[in-house]
Amino acid sequence: MEEEENSEDFDEESIPICPCCLAPIEGDVFVVQFCGKCFAPIGGLAAINPFERIFAQGYIWRAAVTRPTKKVTLIAVGSAALFWIFNGIITILAGYFTLVDGVVPIIYILMGLLEIGAAFYVWKQVSANYKRFLSRQK
Ligand SMILES: [Zn+2]
Repeated sequence: MEEEENSEDFDEESIPICPCCLAPIEGDVFVVQFCGKCFAPIGGLAAINPFERIFAQGYIWRAAVTRPTKKVTLIAVGSAALFWIFNGIITILAGYFTLVDGVVPIIYILMGLLEIGAAFYVWKQVSANYKRFLSRQK
């Protein structure tokens, strides 16, 4: 009985929409993996296929940094930033322990500083966007 009601609700001419931005999905729903407007992963394979997975993770990071709405997002991004800082310090130390003619290879220092700088930049962006979100709520 319930199935009949559901099948009556289904319209053959209904247009599938993106669950994130509500834009109509163009193309075959079973083939399209990303929304054409907001690039949200909408296909079942977007999180599994190795290549598409990169873009699906990029969407999640972009959303976390540009429009954080919960404190748990700050904690998650802060944890990742701490890991990057730790990784940058390890990279610089690895350069120290692989001295070439008594000199620390510059690439280790540059890579370590790049990781530490990226961590602080991402943390600064996500905290500023979260503060902006909170000020809009008031
Ligand atoms: Zn969308």
